[in-house]
Amino acid sequence: MSPASSRAATSTELSPEVRARYECVAGLEVHVQLATATKAFCGCSTRFGDPPNTNTCPVCLGLPGALPVFNRRALELAIKAALALHCDVQERSRFARKNYFYPDLPKGYQISQYELPLAIGGWLEIEVAGEKKRIGITRLHMEEDAAKNLHEGFPDAAQYSHIDFNRGGVPLIEIVSEPDLRSPEEAYAYLTNLKQALEYTAVSDCNMESGSLRCDGNVSVRLRGAREFGTKVEVKNLNSFRYLTHALEYEIDRQIAILESGGSVVQETRLWNVAAGRTESMRSKEFAHDYRYFPDPDLLPVVVTPARKAAILAELPELPDAKRARFISEYAISAYDAGVLTGSAALADYFEAAVRAGAQPKSAANWIQTDLLRRLNDCGKEISASPVSAAALADLLCRIDRNEITGAIAKRVLAKMFETGKSAAEVIAAEGLSPISDTGSVEKICREVIAQNSANVDKYRAGNEGVFKFFVGQVMKETKGRANPQAVNEILTRLLQQK
Ligand code: ADP
Ligand code: ZN
Ligand code: MG
Repeated sequence: MSPASSRAATSTELSPEVRARYECVAGLEVHVQLATATKAFCGCSTRFGDPPNTNTCPVCLGLPGALPVFNRRALELAIKAALALHCDVQERSRFARKNYFYPDLPKGYQISQYELPLAIGGWLEIEVAGEKKRIGITRLHMEEDAAKNLHEGFPDAAQYSHIDFNRGGVPLIEIVSEPDLRSPEEAYAYLTNLKQALEYTAVSDCNMESGSLRCDGNVSVRLRGAREFGTKVEVKNLNSFRYLTHALEYEIDRQIAILESGGSVVQETRLWNVAAGRTESMRSKEFAHDYRYFPDPDLLPVVVTPARKAAILAELPELPDAKRARFISEYAISAYDAGVLTGSAALADYFEAAVRAGAQPKSAANWIQTDLLRRLNDCGKEISASPVSAAALADLLCRIDRNEITGAIAKRVLAKMFETGKSAAEVIAAEGLSPISDTGSVEKICREVIAQNSANVDKYRAGNEGVFKFFVGQVMKETKGRANPQAVNEILTRLLQQK
């Protein structure tokens, strides 16, 4: 299943010295399915996974005479995305017809936006190796998705392709970045932050497996220090973060090898072949004039009044960057922790709910990142489906703070809470993990441990204080960690110093 490493697939092995002489320039074109219940220009459902061709009507099948009506909700979500990406939303934009012939496009054109897009001139911040950088966003426009060609899984697949029109007419936005990216790592960080912003604003579910987020990469190379850009190649089908990184790495090496051998890069569209781990030529570059764009006469111009824009802006939730900064200052947690905890809005909410329920921010941050996320990850669950609620976790952590249980016991309690969905109190009672509050019995165990380890007692009394830890360890073992560590320290110190 794992594709061959892109490096391994490169035909010409480049030395690090040669590679270092070049710099990559990349820009991404990202298609995102808007989270609407119905399609962009008709009332058909957008539900993923329904039986083929059950969500269709004369409009999205392109039957003659059918007229489109634009989905108001799609516009709202597109404006939200544009504002989250600091774009300038245009008061007036327009749908255009992008004409081409392909079986997945029944009208013979795709409704898109061309010379008047919904929004222009935004940016998104990324951080790579501790350095922050703004990546420009050229434009954000609205369009409809094409249908899906199916080539496999049919008895007549050798002769025919089948088409599922359920996806045809689903609303998308396309977000085009400036050629500001300088490495596969930067491209990765850009796509990560873009996805996060779109998830936070609930513009899209951004599910890459079901195709809600699709990415094409444009990449060229030039000698480091050169002013002009090199000839770019567009790579299609980068539908996972791994493909994006591998495809760019592969393509960078391929282009450097061409230039090093005295050749020149051909401007074209290439496809990332997942199985082979390489890009392959798909078609020569198409230009805007090939599509004979013209304004769609069936659709009115899209007007976004300043009042509407302001209303949507006011509804925008706190965005990832702002949340990260606030977590660092408000909770005094590290930038790294803040980064992990703001990975999704749901995770950030969980953390804040735990803190509100009384957990110390630092300890909540640690326990969520280590124990909780690992356990969720192991069973493939999202934070929203955590068997341990934020309040239940906070209750557990408060017990450590009150010296009721040790951290080690708390880990065992959390494991049980996760397994059973029970509260800390229930697990502690059921497992006999409640702390030994009676100091008399702790002292008795301390005396026994001392009596059984006279050699170590002599060492301690001879000045080897390191042995003290051994005694603490033994007592904790005997009490299964249920003794209060502070009490154990005090009792052992007193007993060991008595002659
Ligand atoms: P086209 O005319 O091929 O559509 P655009 O100028 O619209 O090209 O850019 C499409 C995408 O390619 C954008 O994301 C842009 O940032 C990126 N891009 C443009 N020129 C280059 C280049 N020389 N190298 C890498 N990426 C580029
Ligand atoms: Zn329809
Ligand atoms: Mg273009």
